[in-house]
Amino acid sequence: MNEKIRIMKFGGTSVGDGECIRRAAEIVASGAAAGPLVVVVSAMSGVTNRLIAAAHASARGETQIAGELAESLRAQHRAAIDLLITDQEARAKLAAEAETIIQEVSGLCQGTALLRELTPRALDSISSAGERLTARLLADALCDLGLVGVALDSTELIVTDDVFGRAEPLMPETRARTTARLLPMLEGGAIPVVTGFLGATPEGILTTLGRGGSDYSATILGAALDAAEVIIWTDVDGVLSADPRLVPEARTLGEISYNEAAELAYFGAKVLHPKTLRPVSDAGIPVWIRNSFAPERPGTQITTLGHPTARGVKAITAISDVSLITVGGRGIVGLLGVAARTFTAAATAQANVLLISQSSSENDICFIVNAMDEARTLAELRRAFAFDLAHKEVEHITVDPEIAIIAVVGDRMQGMPGIAGRTFSALGQRGINIIAIAQGSSEYNVSLVVRSDAMRDAVQALHVEFELHRRAERIE
Ligand code: ASP
Ligand code: MG
Repeated sequence: MNEKIRIMKFGGTSVGDGECIRRAAEIVASGAAAGPLVVVVSAMSGVTNRLIAAAHASARGETQIAGELAESLRAQHRAAIDLLITDQEARAKLAAEAETIIQEVSGLCQGTALLRELTPRALDSISSAGERLTARLLADALCDLGLVGVALDSTELIVTDDVFGRAEPLMPETRARTTARLLPMLEGGAIPVVTGFLGATPEGILTTLGRGGSDYSATILGAALDAAEVIIWTDVDGVLSADPRLVPEARTLGEISYNEAAELAYFGAKVLHPKTLRPVSDAGIPVWIRNSFAPERPGTQITTLGHPTARGVKAITAISDVSLITVGGRGIVGLLGVAARTFTAAATAQANVLLISQSSSENDICFIVNAMDEARTLAELRRAFAFDLAHKEVEHITVDPEIAIIAVVGDRMQGMPGIAGRTFSALGQRGINIIAIAQGSSEYNVSLVVRSDAMRDAVQALHVEFELHRRAERIE
């Protein structure tokens, strides 16, 4: 193929119903006029959640859920099919294909209810049904517009390990399969419409890449095909300088770096799955975030350099559904291995530790986990330190859920003196107390912990301090 391929991925809201899928098809149609295109789709928004809930209900022995699930999937997808497909015959054929997938997933739920057991492998098969449905709908919607849309299950393309529920791609195998399967189709002028979120082991057993994993699917295929760019179509204008619900004058960033995007994804800007950029950043393949509901807007481009600016700071993020856990007491001074045991306990609880801070007096070790990991982490800590608690070596293990992490993010903060100082004085002037501070070793972010009722004020103060409402000139 001499022309570079582009990847377009549509998220759940961008294919949320028939009308949205029609809009997506139109975006694909105008993109396809410019060169070869591979399309990746999510499930309709909410569908994956319903599939997973049905799987768990079935495992509890709720036998009626399989039928209810089939009925709701049928109603939702039939309505979209009726809106999208004008040709009678094509419509009947697509409805039959959708019905096959619906019967299959409802059969899996019935089996699960009988066994009262849900293996990770079965859960992956059930939760992937949404993508398999939308791929067919969008492919046929393209045909309805006179293009050659061909639906493909990514079990044929993305080869993964067998860690069900969060499988990782095996890139050499994926590249071989993807090029062998897709290049001839593209040469022939077809537009492959590929299911996001799923893959298969080398033996062909279906796996999923983790919740929100369709972004990841798109960049995996982008890397496998040496794509010119990957465009992620979603329901927001791009990556913003702050959450607009907290800062009304937040603006869409025209260009950011892979590192900045990764920090932002990690610290709460929910536009990208955190793993999305891994497959493409080494090759320097740009990724766009664009709004399928306002395709005339430019969106945010994510690149290696990412429009460096003199002010260093690009965006402020905030997350509040987190808890601060403290292990402390005078006895822990000199008590060997407290930090190691603390984080081993967090790891045993499978908690993702977002931030760590230890004061120099060594009286306390504080760290932050997602609120949903809090109870499990506490239980593990109490178990790990049971002896020390009983002997008062460790005096307390406490939790504070009323906190928020604010992160000041930007590539060029690296080696730029004064950013931390400005951050603290901006908050100090507003009387906002800082509970803990951490700087990532990457220096792409300075993170602060504040009380959750001060979160809005803190983000606004920093947005003003670094003048993020204004576009900054690019420097080299
Ligand atoms: N449908 C999957 C999910 O909801 C994958 C995705 O939308 O990216 O997690
Ligand atoms: Mg998503």
